[in-house]
Amino acid sequence: MDLVLMGLPGAGKGTQAEMIVEKYGIPHISTGDMFRAAMKEGTPLGKQAKAYMDAGDLVPDEVTNGIVRERLSKQDCENGFLLDGFPRTVPQAEALDAMLEEMNRGIDYVLHIDVDREKLMERLTGRRICRNCGATYHMIFNPPARPGVCDKCSGELYQREDDNEATVGNRLEVNIAQQEPLLTYYKNKDILKTIDGNRKIEEVFRNVDELIGSLSE
Ligand SMILES: [Zn+2]
Repeated sequence: MDLVLMGLPGAGKGTQAEMIVEKYGIPHISTGDMFRAAMKEGTPLGKQAKAYMDAGDLVPDEVTNGIVRERLSKQDCENGFLLDGFPRTVPQAEALDAMLEEMNRGIDYVLHIDVDREKLMERLTGRRICRNCGATYHMIFNPPARPGVCDKCSGELYQREDDNEATVGNRLEVNIAQQEPLLTYYKNKDILKTIDGNRKIEEVFRNVDELIGSLSE
């Protein structure tokens, strides 16, 4: 059960990952967690990564790939893993394939949670914060009783600049451009499974669950 999870910001990857981990007991391996663990353990690669990050530089692929290799070699990955946030590029995907082949295993499925751009925009720009007490709301998931007014203190609600349409739109474009070649790479390998992520969380998971379940049959 060697899985890669892909999707744009706001696609609901985190929620699906939690549900997969709970049902199938495989570790959820996100890039951030992996880096933090390697740095905390002070492994040689962790130290190298830290040096690049402290200097404000990008961590080069050979270091990142090495950290991934170490992580995937750990015992908890014996029956599978759910990679999230890696690979980000085709060269990283090729490196991943090569290291898994050395371990006599390979990616079974790449689960791509696909959500319409319009819906992602709604989800990602919906946050509102109270100027007075800091309470947070979401226009879709947790709307205030009266638009623009805090339920708790009647303070004025505002949108952070990070959450506005232009900023979110730019971030999405960057992510779409980055994701596209990877999707093609995995599609050509015939392991890409695109899941309609526009639906309710439970419906999306039912689909994910069917796919993963089909691996053990
Ligand atoms: Zn308030």
